[in-house]
Amino acid sequence: MARKGRSSVSAAADYIRIAGLHVSYDGVTPAVSDLDMTVAEGDFVAVLGPSGCGKSTLLHAISGVVKPQAGLIEVAGQPVGTGRGEHSVPIGYVFQDHRLLPWRTVAQNLAIVLRASGVSDDEIDGRIDRYLDMLHISDFRDTWPLRLSGGQRQRVSIARALAVQPAVVLMDEPFSTLDEVTARIMRQQLAELWQESGQTLVFVTHSIREALFLANRIFILTRGPARVFDVVQVSVARPRRYEDPALTELEAQIVEHVMDQWGYGPSSAGTEGT
Ligand code: ADP
Repeated sequence: MARKGRSSVSAAADYIRIAGLHVSYDGVTPAVSDLDMTVAEGDFVAVLGPSGCGKSTLLHAISGVVKPQAGLIEVAGQPVGTGRGEHSVPIGYVFQDHRLLPWRTVAQNLAIVLRASGVSDDEIDGRIDRYLDMLHISDFRDTWPLRLSGGQRQRVSIARALAVQPAVVLMDEPFSTLDEVTARIMRQQLAELWQESGQTLVFVTHSIREALFLANRIFILTRGPARVFDVVQVSVARPRRYEDPALTELEAQIVEHVMDQWGYGPSSAGTEGT
């Protein structure tokens, strides 16, 4: 992964800047309302909220897939919107489901994306090898996605997103469909990859523990429409341990903090959780 400016003194404090964001799919019901957040260059932040609160919508808006009704989104000082031009900052996206093309091999899945993002033909093979190796899936280079386990498919999907060497990586609950042991291994490796990369990473999750394990800062959203309810700084040193009692303590504090906001308080008994 390309190392970009995290140690640089010029890293921008507001590399991603969102102000007064308002998104509605039907023009009536808001999915995101009056949301403000800034993310520093090279930071690893989590966006935490219950299912349906608007987390994916926020990521879609940052990537330019969904057009906001109001508000501002800038990445590296440039406005984001649908139909972004050639000066736009490259953004990688990892979805909850792997979204690999089943009729293409692992390598071909990466090649398609690399070609589409302008990587030259003589560079593509090397780039594929490097990122498959990084995600520990070199052995599956010529395998069809359907022959892979869920964890392996998600590794391919992460390799595909990182291989284009985006300045910003958006991840939308990428481990939520995996078994817990696989998910823990992948979280650990993601934390290591991020530390080496210097990329700006925005990770959406409904898991408080996952957010605490991975991120430097956690944007806790309201139940929906999404707005930032609070921002938590996670000062636990890296490398972190998933079972670290410090994380357990922080997790308990956040649960207590969001109980009413997310609708699990005594006044809303019976409300469905995540
Ligand atoms: P989360 O990612 O937190 O689960 P979403 O961003 O997916 O939440 O959804 C936020 C709200 O927007 C929900 O009420 C959801 O039903 C609605 N929504 C999401 N995607 C669409 C869509 N494509 N069309 C209409 N409504 C949508």
